[in-house]
Amino acid sequence: MVSESTGQGPAVVAEANPAFCDQIRNIPWIDTASVEYEAKRKIYQRDNVATPHAIACPRNTEDVAALVRHSIEANIPITVRSGGHDLFGRSIVESALCIDMRAIDFVEIAQDKKSARIGGGIRFEKLAEELSKEGLVCPFGTVPSVGFVGWASLGGYGALSGQYGLGVDQIIGAEVVNANAEIIQADEEMLKGIRGAGGNFGIVAGLRIKVYELKTLLAGLIVLDPSTKGVAETFADFLTGLQSLMASGQCPAAAGLDPAIVNHPQRGQTALVTFVWSSPDHSAGRAFLEKLLTLAPVAMQNVGETSMPAWLKTLEAFCPYGIFGGDRGISFRKLTPKMLAILRRHMENMPSDPATTIAIHPLSRTSPSATDPNLKRGSCFNPEARQEHFLLELIGSTLEQSNSPKSQKWIKDAYNELKGSGDAMDGSYIALTHPEDMCLEKIYGAAWEDLLALKRRLDPKGFFRNAVPRM
Ligand SMILES: Cc1cc2nc3c(=O)[nH]c(=O)nc-3n(C[C@H](O)[C@H](O)[C@H](O)COP(=O)(O)OP(=O)(O)OC[C@H]3O[C@@H](n4cnc5c(N)ncnc54)[C@H](O)[C@@H]3O)c2cc1C
Repeated sequence: MVSESTGQGPAVVAEANPAFCDQIRNIPWIDTASVEYEAKRKIYQRDNVATPHAIACPRNTEDVAALVRHSIEANIPITVRSGGHDLFGRSIVESALCIDMRAIDFVEIAQDKKSARIGGGIRFEKLAEELSKEGLVCPFGTVPSVGFVGWASLGGYGALSGQYGLGVDQIIGAEVVNANAEIIQADEEMLKGIRGAGGNFGIVAGLRIKVYELKTLLAGLIVLDPSTKGVAETFADFLTGLQSLMASGQCPAAAGLDPAIVNHPQRGQTALVTFVWSSPDHSAGRAFLEKLLTLAPVAMQNVGETSMPAWLKTLEAFCPYGIFGGDRGISFRKLTPKMLAILRRHMENMPSDPATTIAIHPLSRTSPSATDPNLKRGSCFNPEARQEHFLLELIGSTLEQSNSPKSQKWIKDAYNELKGSGDAMDGSYIALTHPEDMCLEKIYGAAWEDLLALKRRLDPKGFFRNAVPRM
């Protein structure tokens, strides 16, 4: 490995195994003395000030395998980092070697244009761009700098989940560096583990995913008008109306809706809805939009024809990279009057930091993730969450560190009261589960026992112990 600061490979490797150090000497390597170290170390969550022993930047699968072998032989713990968006900063750990996958971001589209091979470090923005050139899309989450593997392999909620399914159900193959530092194609058993428990069985150097023909989207923001009933009441009216449409089968699979409460710089606390229509039939999309606009008073909407890359850029403006604090996620089969009353009350004392937000991610009953039993069998994603439900994300993030304790207390109080309502589902979404609320048995539900057995078999020494979730 080439150290950016000294031009020398890491001393620890040389002492542990000089021949092997030679073999991997060309992998870009950034140690704590490098001027680049701080910029490379930066992750989305800023409370984590851990200093990785070094940051290695593999360029291909062979580099990843060499790094794993080096770490096993030198007995150095590792973490894996792609988009760096883990909400609790778990992609860097004090003194561990951080394997930064971002340079492995290739996209190879299959000839039939139904699947693509993608690099393990690719982020939404590049993947969306490359697919768009061929008139293709795949499901994404909301923020373009999130890593696809980290997102998809833990569940992967997004605006296209209703039409094509969750991220976890897009994975059809994986090239993995396993706990013996071997490069393998994941078999069905390992794939089942990757589909829900991410990097617990190896480093994913590449995935094969499903892709779909779709040249343009209808997408935009709907801002609700609080002037008659106030923000909280108007938001609750919209949610109640949306839930009725979903329950009566009037919410088409192509409609991806994420209602949210944000602190807008000019408007103050604002209820809005992101609208995405993922079907070429735009007149049906506009007709459905008209129906939505009757659910609650609307101040403005800017839904129009766009592309996935352009839409992701629009969303990026809402989410600057680098926050303090984190989220608490909690899922509901139904938005009951009791839970809506609790939510309304907590909206009224929501702190005003621009990053503090509430977002709701619905999964509809028509989503392939809910209807296709093969997808359920092929993953360890909680089977209970493969039914219609609403993932409520209490985003206690702040741009200002001094605001963090207030926002963290606010989400904790809201979470505890919502959980205490008795209306929440048992399991939550692993990526948004605060470490204090972590109960893996409940999160994985009926899939937990098999998952644990798989972990013991494929990673018996716990080499990938810093993966999310920590098992
Ligand atoms: C601003 C923001 C918006 C988000 N929006 C959504 C959303 O819309 N929908 C949703 O479902 N989730 C969303 N999330 C959650 C996000 O999907 C997860 O936190 C995801 O794990 C982040 O992946 P990453 O690569 O960006 O993060 P990283 O911190 O780089 O990685 C997180 C973990 O993923 C694993 N990992 C990543 N790459 C690999 C690899 N190649 N091989 C093996 N393991 C790997 C590692 O265990 C790593 O510690 C969001 C998070 C943030 C901060």
